[in-house]
Amino acid sequence: MIYSGVLTKMRTELSDTVQYYLVWKDDFIHMNQLIGKKISINFLKYECLNCGLQKKIFRQGLCYDCFSSIPQAGEWVISPEKSKAHLDEEDRDLEYEKRSQLQPHIVYLANSSDVKVGVTRKTQVPTRWIDQGAHEAIEIVEVPNRYLAGITEVALKNHVADKTNWRKMLTNDVLDLDLHAERDKLKQFIPDEARDYYLASNKETEIKFPVEKYPEKVKTLNLSKSPFYEGLLRGIKGQYLIFDDGTAFNVRGHEGHVVEIKVVL
Ligand SMILES: [Zn+2]
Repeated sequence: MIYSGVLTKMRTELSDTVQYYLVWKDDFIHMNQLIGKKISINFLKYECLNCGLQKKIFRQGLCYDCFSSIPQAGEWVISPEKSKAHLDEEDRDLEYEKRSQLQPHIVYLANSSDVKVGVTRKTQVPTRWIDQGAHEAIEIVEVPNRYLAGITEVALKNHVADKTNWRKMLTNDVLDLDLHAERDKLKQFIPDEARDYYLASNKETEIKFPVEKYPEKVKTLNLSKSPFYEGLLRGIKGQYLIFDDGTAFNVRGHEGHVVEIKVVL
């Protein structure tokens, strides 16, 4: 079987183990069914997810020109504390920014390698946690806009990590922690503006990923450098396909790459 199209991050479903779908224009692959099979990935060309042109991908599946201009890639996306829609101030497109920023946001703790703090729109829970490969996560505050989530994250970052160690995440070099206790410890550092939004009673969410065997060492596959790869798929965690030889392929990191995926056997 051969599938071909432009890569976008895998869609996910939280059930006993996470279900992964690679979605093409008029087709999809249920990736869990390919675990235990040999597949090949062949990089054909770039295709910007916004303009559709065959231009080198800069970030987030976008060419440089689109990344520098469209509202979906404003600085406030990566740095929520820079959000300004609540002040009626435009960054690139105020209507878009109001729709995105002025809605419930969650500041959470997720454990994918070490405990880290993060921000997401409420509608993206638990998708965001799955994408990060977190095996457990818990909400800290639910606030009415992105700015408040951003300043809370900034304040908490002084006391907890804000980056995932993907190597530890992919080798499953992780611990089960009591995130309720971690949350309670951080409560005192929530800024005054967000203090009333503390969530004291939410329970930890546990996430199980479909991985038959974790590698001891990982190396990442970069299609721009190695345009063809073939290997035995052993599992999926976060947005990574994990292969038997320790190769990890970050699907999200390859958004905007047109590929051909073949099930070899
Ligand atoms: Zn573009």
